[in-house]
Amino acid sequence: MFDTLSDKLNSVFKQLKGHGKLSEKNIADGLREVRMALLEADVHYQVVKKLVADIKARALGQEVMGSLTPGQQVVKIVNESLTQLMGETHEELNLAGEKPVAVMLVGLQGSGKTTTAGKLSVMLRKTGKQPYLVPADVYRPAAIDQLKKLGTQLDVPVFDSTPDMDPVKICQEARVAAQKAGCDTLLLDTAGRLHIDDALMEELSRIRTTVRPTDILLVADAMTGQDAVNIAKTFDERLDIGGVVLTKMDGDARGGAALSIRSITGKPIKFIGVGEKLSELEAFHPDRMASRILG
Ligand code: GDP
Repeated sequence: MFDTLSDKLNSVFKQLKGHGKLSEKNIADGLREVRMALLEADVHYQVVKKLVADIKARALGQEVMGSLTPGQQVVKIVNESLTQLMGETHEELNLAGEKPVAVMLVGLQGSGKTTTAGKLSVMLRKTGKQPYLVPADVYRPAAIDQLKKLGTQLDVPVFDSTPDMDPVKICQEARVAAQKAGCDTLLLDTAGRLHIDDALMEELSRIRTTVRPTDILLVADAMTGQDAVNIAKTFDERLDIGGVVLTKMDGDARGGAALSIRSITGKPIKFIGVGEKLSELEAFHPDRMASRILG
């Protein structure tokens, strides 16, 4: 994760560490390279601009600390800026509401929605919740089967959707069934398409207004870089999402999406997918991510 970005930033810092005392020129040269490294990592240019300005303001306004070398101090500043950019603290799933609550997963086909629904059910169960999986993608019968299989594998109940049902009706009936089964948290696996289209957004909006989920998570593939950011923005404009799950962070994602999403959409990344296995979902912590990026 972030290998190239980490390598590049570290080589900038190494050069700075060679200087006993940092001058404005050293900082300006260093920042130019930080900027290049971020752009190459597919970070949105507006975000790069904001970040570089923030690092510069912090660096120039700061007293030299006795305990740190100037180079270490720059690393600390960049770390703080990155953390702030990604939202400072981990934001939990919003489950506040009358039980059973519903969490809606939305996103394009192949982004990892169904897998994430399974992963979230594992995570929720660990915290004492009783999850209930709901396949609401009636256009791809294979998606319904995939979730039913996951449920069997994990021993999590799954609503018995069929492809001839209306997705809104599925979600409504599933809530009643979940309550009967003694479950408190529905995970709605909605339909995906290859591209964003109006019919899909209409359907998702209908589910949202009828079912009133306490959280809507946009599942996006980190490997798609800026596309993931644009997708998050479009879904947020239509659905007012609660947060993002960034999947496939174990691949050679260059880091751009992780760094840009909060700043561009105003919505937090809540979880990251770090592998295909059902245990491979992590809470997203901006400070830990910043430290990972800085190696
Ligand atoms: P959906 O169409 O959005 O429901 O996507 P799926 O859940 O079917 O996932 C599409 C593919 O991505 C599958 O092969 C998953 O195993 C894979 N996948 C999902 N999340 C991750 C992840 O975090 N890391 C990796 N490496 N693969 C993932």
